[in-house]
Amino acid sequence: MTDFSTGLRTAACPGCARSLTGDRRWPLWCPDCGWGLDDPTTDLKRRARRRRERMHQRVLAEHRRILAKGPQPQGLLRAVAMTLAVVVHLFTVALAAVGMLMWLLPMPVLLKVILSGLLLLGAWETRPRFGRLADRPVLRRADAPHTFALLDQACAIAGARPIDVVVPTSLFNASAGFAGLRPRESVLSIGLPLWNTLDRDEKLALLGHELGHFVNGDLRETLLVGTALTSLRKWEWFLAPDRFYVRIHRGPRVRRASFSDRVGALLLLPFATVMGTFAKALGRVATLASQRSEYRADTLAATLGGRAAALRLLNGLYFDDATVFAMKVALRTDQKADIWAVGRGYQQSLPDAERERVRRNGDRALHRTDSWHPPTALRTELVAATPDRGPAIHLDAEQERLVDAELMSLEPYVRELLIARIDR
Ligand SMILES: [Zn+2]
Ligand SMILES: [Zn+2]
Repeated sequence: MTDFSTGLRTAACPGCARSLTGDRRWPLWCPDCGWGLDDPTTDLKRRARRRRERMHQRVLAEHRRILAKGPQPQGLLRAVAMTLAVVVHLFTVALAAVGMLMWLLPMPVLLKVILSGLLLLGAWETRPRFGRLADRPVLRRADAPHTFALLDQACAIAGARPIDVVVPTSLFNASAGFAGLRPRESVLSIGLPLWNTLDRDEKLALLGHELGHFVNGDLRETLLVGTALTSLRKWEWFLAPDRFYVRIHRGPRVRRASFSDRVGALLLLPFATVMGTFAKALGRVATLASQRSEYRADTLAATLGGRAAALRLLNGLYFDDATVFAMKVALRTDQKADIWAVGRGYQQSLPDAERERVRRNGDRALHRTDSWHPPTALRTELVAATPDRGPAIHLDAEQERLVDAELMSLEPYVRELLIARIDR
């Protein structure tokens, strides 16, 4: 029943019969028995559901181990990952070698050209890549003195070496990594849509988490494993069935898979299948290792921004898609819209019950910021168990304004990226 004078509606819960009252603009749900919440497994086939359950049990088992005994040493995991990574690189070398040896075999020249061409192409496409920053605007020390001053301060506490490059992105996320080989530069990517929604201490917590990736022995950040994972991602791309019809996404540009893309993918399928198996093995090891490094990073988030801010940061992550969606909707009607006010206002506009519903649905769907991060709910549990010493750095309003202004100097570029992805 809806009372239009108050905007409230009431109903008896079909699950447990308690009486429910809620804002009629939002779905009604029951905080006691969970009636009205999503079941993320309804659309999954039985096999997919079982796989999901198995994967989650592994993550959960590791989670409990870490909670009980603290972060585990990574010795064995490291050795396994390094070995798998070497095999991946050797495979690329073998592919190129066989491609060249093809020419010595007795067969028609046309066949030689096609086969060796494909093998060499496969080897070239999956060669180790060191990451490039070439074609995107970035911030360096001279461009953003206040940001780098803050980062230096944070790095000193985290025990990380100073950051070389800051890259503002269009994602509701942040990441840390390296680019280039000589010099190998440390890169901190900060998604402006996420940064924009954070308060001062939450920003410190976010920096703490990302800097944590430079000091937590993250396997993905090592040259050997990092490049092997990139090569495997390429193989996965060759393997992906949707590669036959999806649009291929390259940065802000989008193009359709061409005929030769499809034929190439089909012919490379046998190699891709072998690599797919490796991708799975290395992926599993790296995921387990990454769970441990993510927890270490979260501990550092709590150290830098304080436990309360680290928890608020994690809680805000549940609104990742919805916040970016709200910004895109604003962009659709007006490309000059103040999407930053929209992004900030979005979460605040939700009543508490709706925020809680989104969070609980997120937990049911095992919400995570990306495939490398453990479920947000588990990260929250871990951070809640750390001691609270408050923020390690005092960031005042003026400093915050200066840092924000430096990051926002690349806003037009980030806006363009968002506009390019409006329909996705
Ligand atoms: Zn109920
Ligand atoms: Zn992380």
